[in-house]
Amino acid sequence: MMVFTKTENLLKILLPYRAQNKIGFIPTMGALHTGHLSLVKKALEKNDCVVVSIFVNPTQFDNSSDLKKYPRTLEKDVTLLETLQGTVYIFTPDTKTLYGETVNSKKYRLGAIASEMEGRHRKGHFDGVATVISLFFKVILPNNAYFGQKDFQQLQIIKKLVEIEKLPIKIIGCPIVREKNGLAMSSRNKRLGQQQLENATIISKILKEVRSQFKKKSIQELNKLVENRFKQSSLQLEYFEIANEKTLKTVSRKRKENKYRAFIAAFSKEVRLIDNMALN
Ligand code: AMP
Repeated sequence: MMVFTKTENLLKILLPYRAQNKIGFIPTMGALHTGHLSLVKKALEKNDCVVVSIFVNPTQFDNSSDLKKYPRTLEKDVTLLETLQGTVYIFTPDTKTLYGETVNSKKYRLGAIASEMEGRHRKGHFDGVATVISLFFKVILPNNAYFGQKDFQQLQIIKKLVEIEKLPIKIIGCPIVREKNGLAMSSRNKRLGQQQLENATIISKILKEVRSQFKKKSIQELNKLVENRFKQSSLQLEYFEIANEKTLKTVSRKRKENKYRAFIAAFSKEVRLIDNMALN
């Protein structure tokens, strides 16, 4: 497995692939799991080579302790990617290589989708995400880039970003990979103890319950139901929202013609977990 820390070396190796227009890209923050691998496998089906970036991006964190404690497991990540068949390159630059001297996020006009949910609760988060992804896109110039629906709002933000920056990159959304017990896979799960991991399954259980009750109950009833479920659990709910899948705006009334998704952010002690599920 070839691991690049310098841009020039990565660009040299990518040169022969440019003509084929088949370079796939998966940006990650490392601590890889089967969810990440599903994106890489999907990319390998359609591209001649796939670049996986591993970079814990400081500008998207609004909490310095969260950034410090984010799991970093590069050796294991390399080993995991080595289990795949196909041409995969790892790009793991340091902050200076990617950002230069000033580590700031740019201000983007990402529109209303950026001020909902994660945007409301994590100030500056999406500017940080858009900045780092734009930096990676401009170095790697991939043809296709793959993002998980686990971060559904982020996926919409990236689609908006390529529109704003007029980048000829196809953005492909991939389904959420879950543990057998329903818990959405996440690098942050590595920070949970056994009991916390078990308790965290409440998130996907509640989402499933909302999905099954979606036709029968009003939005207000569903909001109440979720609030009560969390009150009886050991997790702290940050937000629960049923939103229009396109606009990501919270809804108070359902309309047949629209697609809806439920979103949860909750804390298990100081570890923040997010998940979402399509409702109709
Ligand atoms: P991260 O390393 O958390 O920044 O995630 C890198 C990419 O992997 C993002 O596009 C995520 O949405 C995606 N991802 C993370 N967890 C999952 C999962 N459980 N299923 C599918 N995609 C995921």
